[in-house]
Amino acid sequence: MKLRFEGVAFDLDHTLLVDNRLERVALIDLIVRIDAGVAPLHVSLERAGTIADEELARYRSEGVDLETVLRRYVERCGGEGGEGWAPWFRQRCLDLVPRLVVPMPAARRLLSALAQSDLRVAALSNGAAGLQERKAAQIGFFYPVLASERIGLRKPERGAFDLLAARMGLQAERILYVGDDPYTDIAGALGAGFAALWLDGGSKPYPADLAAPTATIRSLDELLPLLIERTV
Ligand SMILES: [Mg+2]
Repeated sequence: MKLRFEGVAFDLDHTLLVDNRLERVALIDLIVRIDAGVAPLHVSLERAGTIADEELARYRSEGVDLETVLRRYVERCGGEGGEGWAPWFRQRCLDLVPRLVVPMPAARRLLSALAQSDLRVAALSNGAAGLQERKAAQIGFFYPVLASERIGLRKPERGAFDLLAARMGLQAERILYVGDDPYTDIAGALGAGFAALWLDGGSKPYPADLAAPTATIRSLDELLPLLIERTV
């Protein structure tokens, strides 16, 4: 078997796993805890959930730090001092991993096959380092996880992908990057010289204004054949 690539690297959320909105669950738990033990907040959990969604969207798209997210979230829910809950929140997220994180369909089959191969494997993920590593371990992904919080660079920044290639010890063009987000994953990887495989979740068409992915799959089961050189 002749391999077309020497390495394969993954996005985590909605590519290899789903976390069932774990950080949103932890944010609502935080409001319940503050309301019961510190000071009444007079906010409905439905409203807290909406605020959590808005603040998490900023956290993901703008790379705001966790303390800022917690401060704003608790303030908008009628309290104060949210930033002081950061250690509690991080631990709460880790504790929720076994209950909420599940592999994407075919992810375990794929990881078993990769373990039998000579390919180098890694993940590059925007998010909190300890949490993303714990989520990866939960689905049996025991390869390096480069999390934006730890490396100080976020997808789609070129530097994040350059660092990924360096950590894998490979030229970018020898690595296939797999992700579900056209902008952060596919445009980011292509811009750094990787081949980029789009996992099409079926919810939105690929944006016409972005460079097309090297290939598109609908299931991780379609990945392995693409790693092999076509000789005919
Ligand atoms: Mg993703």
